[in-house]
Amino acid sequence: MSTEEDQLLIGAHTSAAGGVHNALYEGQKIGATTVQLFTSNQKQWKGRVFTQKELDLWQQALEETGLQKIMCHDSYLINLGAPNPEVLEKSRKAFREEIERCLLLGISYLNFHPGAALKEDRGQCLDRIVESLLEVEELVAEGPTELLLESTAGQGSTVGYRFEELGYIVDKVKGRLPIGVCIDTCHSFVAGYDIRTEEEWDKTLQEFDRQVGLDYLKAFHLNDSLKGLGSRVDRHKPLGEGEIGLESFRVLMNHPATRNLPKYLETPGGPPVWTKEIALLRNLFLINGISKR
Ligand SMILES: [Zn+2]
Ligand SMILES: [Zn+2]
Repeated sequence: MSTEEDQLLIGAHTSAAGGVHNALYEGQKIGATTVQLFTSNQKQWKGRVFTQKELDLWQQALEETGLQKIMCHDSYLINLGAPNPEVLEKSRKAFREEIERCLLLGISYLNFHPGAALKEDRGQCLDRIVESLLEVEELVAEGPTELLLESTAGQGSTVGYRFEELGYIVDKVKGRLPIGVCIDTCHSFVAGYDIRTEEEWDKTLQEFDRQVGLDYLKAFHLNDSLKGLGSRVDRHKPLGEGEIGLESFRVLMNHPATRNLPKYLETPGGPPVWTKEIALLRNLFLINGISKR
């Protein structure tokens, strides 16, 4: 393996069933160099509290697997821009607990869904998200965890599908919080950003740079899409089996602005599919390297 290939950060959202350390071992089994996981049940408000034993197992698994840049995905229930005060309160508490768990585990990134406006004005929703984030300023300063806004598909009233909205939030909290963006390829494609060719990727990245700033692009969720460009319907497909196509992922693996950023698969099919896809992504990197030499 070339050293550059060694350093590729590719993984998947692995299972923490039976303990968070299991997500790391599953990553190792599929040939990953990083993973994303839920540190608690993503469909419950009540957060998991780790025992010392679990923390020890996690540390041991980190050492044994050598995985880097671990990402946590936040609970699906959290809406940091919720118009309902009770839901907002619960969301803020749960988000703090997400950060606390990340700090205990030494996790690099907490990826979170920006929020949903429901029946309210989108601008107010964005401002409430900013307020929610500023509340964790001191907590997040205690450790290595960066907060990453996930680009959304724009289903329903969710905010953060347009780069302008992500840029608005980043702009209001940068300098005070370690903030960044994780682009989900399926979400941004169905949100209307074409990424099927090198030329289209260039345009999309230029647009991201204008609206957010490329310095804030930190990671990717890799998914092909069942639905077409601009459909705003979030349905993941294995790489190369959807509307985006493999060429997009070849570009992503090799583009100077994206090749060194960590990438996490969320494709359907689980570990057998991810094993193949991780090998495929490595090949897409190598093929390009050879053809350009
Ligand atoms: Zn997500
Ligand atoms: Zn999705």
